[in-house]
Amino acid sequence: MQPGDEEWKQKLTPEQYHVLREKGTEPPFSGKLLANRDTGEYACAACGNVIFKSDAKYESSTPGLSGWPSFAEVAASDAVKLVPDNSWGMDRTEVVCKNCGGHLGHLFDDPDSPSGKHYCINSCALDFASKKNA
Ligand SMILES: [Zn+2]
Repeated sequence: MQPGDEEWKQKLTPEQYHVLREKGTEPPFSGKLLANRDTGEYACAACGNVIFKSDAKYESSTPGLSGWPSFAEVAASDAVKLVPDNSWGMDRTEVVCKNCGGHLGHLFDDPDSPSGKHYCINSCALDFASKKNA
């Protein structure tokens, strides 16, 4: 069974709760993982499900899409669920952790991306595990 709201509130920081459970967005250029260049894996901060690998991380300079960690592809095709999101009058695709349903960020098209896709992910929704010599 998935934890309830009270359990999430205890497990997560207020910022993580706001993003993961209330679909919030952290302020751009505020996240601790934005400039991370280390080799390793990025997991859902709520449940530990591995979402991205460091080799998919790239720098986007596309206006409006920079300021959050950017990934060209997910670590496994079943790591996330993509949900149409029409909130705020915008036509976007929400990226949700498939394991716990936590909100991670949004998926955009991006000419800067090696794959053409831009997973624009909140830094605080991810836990980074460094893998030296990987
Ligand atoms: Zn999760």
